[in-house]
Amino acid sequence: MSKPPSFPPVYTDATQQASENLRRVLPLINQHKTPVNPVNYAVWYEYVSGDNQALSDAIDTRLEQNKPITTEVTQNLYEKYVLMGMPERLEKTNKGITLVVNNTLKNLNKAESTAGECAADLSNTENVLENCTDIEVLKAVVHDILSNTQTLTASSNELKDELKRSAQEMKRLSSELAAVKEIARIDGLTGLLNRSTFDKELRALCKKSDVSIALIMFDLDHFKQLNDTFGHVVGDKVLQFFSSLLKKHASDNHLAARYGGEEMAMILFDVSQHQAAKIAEEVRAELADSNLKQKNNGQTLGQTTVSAGVSLFQLGDTPNSLIDRADKALYVSKENGRNQVNVN
Ligand code: GH3
Ligand code: MG
Ligand code: MG
Repeated sequence: MSKPPSFPPVYTDATQQASENLRRVLPLINQHKTPVNPVNYAVWYEYVSGDNQALSDAIDTRLEQNKPITTEVTQNLYEKYVLMGMPERLEKTNKGITLVVNNTLKNLNKAESTAGECAADLSNTENVLENCTDIEVLKAVVHDILSNTQTLTASSNELKDELKRSAQEMKRLSSELAAVKEIARIDGLTGLLNRSTFDKELRALCKKSDVSIALIMFDLDHFKQLNDTFGHVVGDKVLQFFSSLLKKHASDNHLAARYGGEEMAMILFDVSQHQAAKIAEEVRAELADSNLKQKNNGQTLGQTTVSAGVSLFQLGDTPNSLIDRADKALYVSKENGRNQVNVN
C-alpha cells in the first residue's frame, strides 16, 4: 500500500512491499556513496515507493543533470519533501513570537521608567508648592507639571501604538500557526484528512462508549491500469476528483480521509447502516456516471469506478476491528465485479 505525502510521514506499506523497497534502496544509497542513516533511507525509500511525486521529480531532475546526490542534498530533500518544510516554518513562527513578546516587554519597561521619572518630578513639585509664594516659581512649577503631563501622554500613545503593532503581528503569527497545524492534518494531493489524522480521530472515537459511527472504505477500481494507460498525472487528477465527490457527500460532521494511495475512508456520525450504505452508493454512482475526460485532448478515460465496504460500530469494536469489517465488505465488492457497495 502506498503513502500519501503527509506530515508527520506515515508509512503503510505491507511487510512484503517494505522489504522490496529496502532491497531497492540499499544499492541506491551505496551507488551515491552516502551512509545508510535514517535521513538517506527515508529519502530513497520514498523515491523507490513512487508515492512522493515532488521528491521523485526533484531527484530525477538531479539525476538527469548528472548532479551528485550527496548527504547534504538528501538532507535538504528530506527537510523540504519528507518533513514538508515544517521544522523551518515552526522555527520561524517560534522566533516571531519570541520577538513580539520581547519587544512588548521592552516597551512596557520603557513606559514604566518614563512614568516613574515623571512621578518623581511631580512629587518634587509638590514639595516646592508647599512653601511657594513667588509667582515666577509657581509659573515654573506649572510649566514643569505641563511638560511632565505631555511626556506621559506621548509615552502612553507610543506604548498604545507599539501594543497595536504587536497585537497585529501576534494575529498574523497565530494564523501562520493555525495554517501549519492544518497542513499537518491534511493530505497534500487531495485536501482530505491524512492517514495519521484519520487514525487519531478513529482511535479517539472508538474509546467513547456512546459512539454511533459508521465507516466506509473506498478503493478505486483498476487504478493501476488507469495510471498505466493515461499516466500518473491523470491518475492524480482522478484522485482529486474523487476526493471532491467525498467532500461533497460528506456533511459537516462527517470525516473524509485519504487512507493510502487510491483508498479513501469516510467516518459518518449518527447514521444507520442503511444510511451509511446509501451515502456510499451515492458516491459510487456519481463517479460511475461522471464520464471523465482528459483536459488537453478531450479523450475520455472510460468509465472510472470505485468499490466500497461499509461497517457499523459495535460495542467492543477497536479501530482495527471496525476497519477490518469494512475491508471485508470491500473485498466482497471487488470479488463480485467491482463498482458496488457491500455492508458487513
Ligand atoms: P483494484 O481494482 O483491485 O483495486 O485494482 P488497482 O489497480 O486499483 O489496485 P492496485 O493495488 O494493484 O494498484 C493501486 C494503484 O494505485 C497503484 C498505484 O500506483 C496507484 N496509486 C497509489 N497512489 C497514487 C497516487 O498518489 N497517484 C497516482 N496517480 N496513483 C497512485
Ligand atoms: Mg488499493
Ligand atoms: Mg484499487
